[in-house]
This record gives sequence, structure tokens and C-alpha cells, in this order.
Amino acid sequence: MKKAAISFGLALCLLACCIGLSGCSAGSQKPSETPSHTHNFVNGVCPEDGVYETDFILRGRVSEELKTAPANVGTIEEITYTTRSYYLESLPENEGKEIELTKTAEVYLPYGYDASQKYNVMYLLHGTGEDEKCWLTFKGKDVINVLENMVAQHLCEPVIIVTPTWYSPETPYTTQKEYNADPDPDGWTSKFAAELRNDLIPAVEGKYSTYAEGDTSSAKLTETRDHRAFCGVSRGSMTVMKSGLMQNLDYIANFGNFSGVWTEVSELKEALTSPDYASYDINFWYNGTGDADTVGGANESHVAFYKSAMEELPGKFTDGMNSVMIYKKSSGHDYNAWLADFYNAMLKFYQ
Ligand SMILES: [Zn+2]
Repeated sequence: MKKAAISFGLALCLLACCIGLSGCSAGSQKPSETPSHTHNFVNGVCPEDGVYETDFILRGRVSEELKTAPANVGTIEEITYTTRSYYLESLPENEGKEIELTKTAEVYLPYGYDASQKYNVMYLLHGTGEDEKCWLTFKGKDVINVLENMVAQHLCEPVIIVTPTWYSPETPYTTQKEYNADPDPDGWTSKFAAELRNDLIPAVEGKYSTYAEGDTSSAKLTETRDHRAFCGVSRGSMTVMKSGLMQNLDYIANFGNFSGVWTEVSELKEALTSPDYASYDINFWYNGTGDADTVGGANESHVAFYKSAMEELPGKFTDGMNSVMIYKKSSGHDYNAWLADFYNAMLKFYQ
């Protein structure tokens, strides 16, 4: 990992707070917005200007209408699970040591949740210096209204949203000072894979009614991978790349990288073409960034990564078909932008 990628992590979060209101208000934009030509879609994308056939939100914010509370919303619960600090255990000074932890994640059960039905599930990660409450209780809580409005408009199926934290220190960080003092923020991003796979997914899907139907065996989780998604923002997006696409492809078929990946395409290629994963298709890989999402070069490096992945992995991805890069206008590194990314991803994950 490049040094630069490590040092700008906290800046990502701090700047995100400052530019949180930078996006201009706009609703869902039709792809045909001010066309200079008649769009000719090949594989769902116009080769001339990169506009997608799908009615994605192309600006930094979802509409106020989508954020407005619908008549009915579901409930937020907490789930507690036993895991280990796989990252701390990987450090030389902890060799041979087992560091057991009890962690909590927030869980959103959609309106009308009925344990006799099967539900899609999305594991959704926060950014640097945030925690498991950031999406559903704090900055990203409009996601509940956006989801329920989408379900009411029949734009997607209901989904259970699970928001864990990838941080696993022996004592949870609670102050900004503790987050700032983290010696290796990127260290967690690849080690969350084991927690997700061994501990979190079994805890969630053994309890709630997902397509796994309570059977958290490896075979059943693989069989139901199309109904499972993993998305994240900023360093959470990096975690989706390193712990999801690269390490849990057999359990998950939908991925969302919102604002940055900060790794090498060669690393992704190595994982996706390895004997373990070569035979697995990716149902959908959503990527979102924006013109004002410049923290640490997030937008430029993300777009370059995406383009390179399209070239290097033609057997896995076809732009416009099972993957997209949405470059939003008036869009920064903040939860307004990420709500738009959530909306866009949901248009494709569970239709
Ligand atoms: Zn066009």
C-alpha cells in the first residue's frame, strides 16, 4: 500500500464533514439530459459519452422527495456477535494470540418484515473515523427513507441493511483522538474479510430471515450469494474491495464502491482469476464518485481503477451490463453523494 493512501485517510473524513453540503439539489436525472446526439447504447452504455441506459442519479444528491419519510418504515435493531481482532492477531507482536471481541452492528429490518419471507441483505460500511451507527442512526440515516420509497415505487425489492464497523481494536475507539492515533488505518481493510465471513454473516443470517433460511453453512451461503451485497464509503469502500471482492466472492455477488478504492488492479485481477474465484460471476459491481470528490484524488484514481479493471478483466466485467462507474456532477465526498450511490446500486442489485 502506498504511503499516500495511508496518510490521507483521516483527511477524507474531516473534509467530508466540511463539504457535506456542497452538492446542488437535483432529482433523478434522465440519461437523455441535454443530449448532443441520439444515444446509441451498447451493453447499456453510450460509447460516445459514457451515459448509462439505466435511470441512475447523476448528481450529488437524491431528491428531497426520496428522502421524505414514507408512510411506513421498518425498525432498527442491534445485533451482538462474537468475533476476533483478525488484524491485531496478524501483527508479529501478537503471534499465536487469540484476541476475542464482542461487537455490535445495527440492523435495519424493512417495513413489513415477516420472518416467513426471505430477504436480500446488504452489509454497508462507514468511512474513516466513524462507527457502526453512522449509516442508520447518524449521517446516513436518510438511507431508510430512500430504501422504503424505492420499495414503495417498486424500484427494488426490500432489503435488510446491516451496518458493522471494520475497526476491531481491543477496546472500541470512542473519540476522534483515538481514531487519529490509529497507527495503520488501512490494516483493518483486508482483515475484516475473516470477521465478515466467519462471524458477522453467520450471526446475522442465522438470526434474520435471509435467502440462507437460517442455514449458514458454507454451501448455503454460496448458493445464495446473488442475494447478498457488500457496499462501503471511502475507506469502507476500500474494505469492500479488499475484504469483499478479493476475499469473499464465493459468498457475495453484489458490490458497491462509493468514493475510492486505493489499491492496484493487479491485486484485484490476481484474486478474481485465482482458482478459488475464477468460476464465480459478479452479479453487479457499482462504482460511484463525483467531480468534487477530490479528497486524496478519490475520483481520478477510482475512475482510472475502474477503466483498468474493464480492460484487465473482460471475463468478469462488462461495462453497462454487470458493472458501472457513475461520475456524479456537483458531487463530493459526503453522505449526500453516498445516498445517491445507494439508490443507484439498489436499482441494479435486487430487481
Ligand atoms: Zn450518448
